[in-house]
Order: sequence, then structure tokens, then C-alpha cells
Amino acid sequence: MSERYENFINGAWVSPIQGDYIPNLNPANREEILGLFPNSTAEDAESAVQAAANAQPAWAALSSHTRGEYLRKAADIIASRADAIARDLMREEGKSLPEAKGETLRGVTLLRYYAQETMHPDGDVIPSAGATTFLYTRRFPLGVCSLITPWNFPIAIPIWKAAPALAFGNTVVLKPSELSPLTAYHIAECFAEAGFPAGVFNVLFGEGAGVGEVLTTSAEVNAISFTGSVRTGKQIATQAVAHGKKYQLEMGGKNGVIVLPDANLESAVNLTIQGAFKSAGEKCTATSRVIVHTEIYDAFVTQLVQKTLALKVGSGEDATAYLGPVISEQSRDKILRYVGLAESEGAMLLCGGGAPDDATLQTGFYVQPTVFGGVTSEMRIAQEEVFGPVLCVMRAESLEDALAKLNDVEFGLSASLFTKSLDSALVFAEKAQAGLVRVNGETAGVEPQAPFGGMKGSSSFSREQGLAAREFFTQIKTISIDRAG
Ligand code: NAD
Repeated sequence: MSERYENFINGAWVSPIQGDYIPNLNPANREEILGLFPNSTAEDAESAVQAAANAQPAWAALSSHTRGEYLRKAADIIASRADAIARDLMREEGKSLPEAKGETLRGVTLLRYYAQETMHPDGDVIPSAGATTFLYTRRFPLGVCSLITPWNFPIAIPIWKAAPALAFGNTVVLKPSELSPLTAYHIAECFAEAGFPAGVFNVLFGEGAGVGEVLTTSAEVNAISFTGSVRTGKQIATQAVAHGKKYQLEMGGKNGVIVLPDANLESAVNLTIQGAFKSAGEKCTATSRVIVHTEIYDAFVTQLVQKTLALKVGSGEDATAYLGPVISEQSRDKILRYVGLAESEGAMLLCGGGAPDDATLQTGFYVQPTVFGGVTSEMRIAQEEVFGPVLCVMRAESLEDALAKLNDVEFGLSASLFTKSLDSALVFAEKAQAGLVRVNGETAGVEPQAPFGGMKGSSSFSREQGLAAREFFTQIKTISIDRAG
């Protein structure tokens, strides 16, 4: 019998009102159920939102230093359990153990970063036109924030939203993905032990359809921070605008790498592979297109295919595996449909393209690392987010041509250039239409103290992490004080 987990509402573990639970599967072994998690309904969501609303004034009234202390305690508890959390993260999400551990420790860093942030100035003094007027600003919390998160970074994303929201005096309802509830359960458990006052941090499990409307339209909710697909993001934005909420969306990508003739070829190949195939290509910042200058196209593709063929697919338990399963059967089937589509569009399959034959992998949702050559911008495989280990190789005649191809997509999350030329690096940094731009690095990865987010269709023009999170999770009051008489 699988263990049953409960929602965390108002400081207590609470069963869903209608008593419905969803099994959480291990994508490396569909026969292993990791637990049963509430499939919450609108009534559960209302109770979580109400708890957050009741708790918010007292939480905001604490000194920011005191709120920071709670974040520090939560960070210490997560750090002390990082191995166990990482293992469960690996089992439910499918990424390798080192990647899962790295992500867990990133959660710790984020909590410590925002704990420190509570000691920084929360406003500015502004020279007034009046000689005796004291004119200044202070930042205030928004109130209750709904945090709606995807499965692919099940500890980092919930924490990179919750840590700043809480640090700046908001209370939150976290709605993690129904595909990664176990990691969110660990977060709730650590926050519960850190002793946050009841109702400050609530976790509501279940599908978006059941709770989404309350989380985005309730009169008690003031802001929504969402990360996930474009489809859901657009729905959330529509609801948020109609109900007057502040919102931010971080969504998909079709991230590209450009490789110029003067690049260090070996490093460009290795970092392209890393960006494309680590975490089975299921990072929003994963590399899905590589645009190679025609002078080195053949040499690059030969090395790329040779090294991709050598990558081992296997579960996170297998320390020698480079990439694990994708998240679900639907996801695997969708990726394989894109492979078929790319072939029918005329792209050339250079390696991979199916599920691995290995008998030990048949119970999981695996896809071979796949490379397509001869991809052009008109193909759907060059335009749409596949969200799996599929890489498209495109050819360019010059940096200008490569930039035109790089930018010819609706998304703009991350982009990289491989070159030794300072001029090319500067032109690329200026012209690449992406919120995260790197030279001689992979497209994935960002440091928590730096802003994170996309341009164009990848985002709502807002940013997360670093000081950018303060912009979203606070509102400014302008205060003017004059002498009496
Ligand atoms: P998804 O949109 O299916 O789900 C995201 C979250 O939204 C889940 O918690 C889901 O339950 C919830 N949801 C679904 N319908 C809802 C509704 N009607 N109302 C409210 N909530 C609802 O996305 P996913 O499959 O979990 O994640 C993959 C996507 O996330 C990819 O497109 C990826 O690029 C994107 N992503 C983006 C970033 C980024 O920072 N830009 C980071 C990670 C993932």
C-alpha cells in the first residue's frame, strides 16, 4: 500500500475535502508508486488562500530580520537532509542524483540569499523640491501570492519564488506540479520544522484544473507567480488581468547555440551536448538548436554525433548514465511524435530517434538522445518546444545569418555563442533576443543572485531571482513628510 501524503494548510497536514488522491509514479519504473497525493479541489484551495490571508498581516508586521531568520532555519534543515531529498527528487523527476543534489543545494543557497536580502535597504531617499520635505520610498508586501510551479525543477523553482515572497512579507500558497509532489512535500516538511507561523506557507497538491481558478481569481490573492507551459501561462494571464492581479509568467524556450569557425570545437561540442541532453533535455533553458557556421559544420556534426552515440541512457540510480527518463508516458510519446514529424519535414536523423531497446529500460519512459541535421527555420521541429533530448543542427553562412536564424522563433529564453572573437561576442550579446545570453558556456544554468527570465514569448517581461524578485514581490509607497507649520 502506497503512503498517503496530505496538503499543508494553516500549519497542519490536511486531507483533501473530497478525499481524492493521485498516484505519483517513478518515471524510471512505472510500476513503482512513490506515494498518493491529494488531488485538491476549489474548496481546498479556498481554505489554503484563507489561511494565507489570515496569516499575512502578522507576518508582514515582523521585522524583516526576523523573517530572514525563518528562511535561514529552513535552509539549514534542507541542507541537513539534502541527500534524502535529492534521492526522492531523482526518483520522481528522473534526473541524475548529482543533478538532483545540485538542485537541492541551490534551494538552500536561494533561501540564504533571500534571508540576507531582508537586511538590505527597502527604499530610497529622494531629494524633494521642498527644502524641508523628507521624501522617500518604502517597499511593502503584495499580500497573498499564489505560486504555481512545474515538475522539472521541483525544489529550485518553488523556493526561488517562495523565498523572496516570504522574505518581503507576503504569505504564499504553493501549488507544485502534480508530477513532482514528493519534493514539494519535503519542502513543506522542512518549512513546518523551521516553525513558520501557521498559514504563512501553504502547499496545495493536485492538478491545475481543480484549484487554478481559486488561485488566480480569489479576492484574497494579490499576485500570481507562474512557471510552466505557454498554454497554461496564457490562461493564467487572462484570469489575472480580468481579476486585477499582479502576475509573472516564465514559460517555454527554443534555445539556440551558435558555433563560429574560431570556436574551441571540442568545448563547443561538449557544452552543446551538456545543454541538450543533461536532465533529458527537460530544462526550460536546454539547448534545442545548434546553428553551426558552414566552414566547420561537417567537423562539428561528426564530433557531435560520435559523442552523442556514446551517451548512456539509464535511471538516476545508475551512476554511469548521462541522461535519465523523461517525466511521463505522454511526454515520451509527444517527443517521439516530434521525431516522426521532423523526419516527415525533411530533417535528417543523425542519431537516436526512438526509445532505447535495452531490456532493463522498458519499464521507464526513456528516449534516446536524438540529433537531426539539415534543419531549417520553416520546420516545426525548429520552432516548437519539444522538451526532451532532441537537438536540431542548422547551418549558417555568417554570424549575421546565424543570429537571424537564432532569433527567428517566438521564444527568447537563453542563447549561447562559441567563439574566441571579442567582436563577435559583443555583437551576439547585443543582438541575441534572449533573456539569458552566454559566450562560451551552455544555454542552461543561471546563478541565483542574477535575474532570470526570457524575452518575447518565453516570459511576461518580468524577471525572477536576484534583486529582480524584489520588484515582483513588493510594491512601492512614496512618502513625504513635512515639518508642522
Ligand atoms: P504546465 O503548464 O503543464 O504546468 C505548470 C503548472 O501549472 C503545474 O503546477 C500545473 O498543475 C499548473 N496548471 C495547469 N493548468 C492550470 C490552470 N488551468 N490553472 C492553474 N494552474 C494550472 O507545465 P509543465 O509541463 O509542468 O512544465 C513544463 C513547461 O515549463 C515547459 O514549457 C518549460 O519550458 C516550462 N518551464 C519554464 C521555466 C522558466 O523559468 N522559463 C522553467 C521550468 C519550466
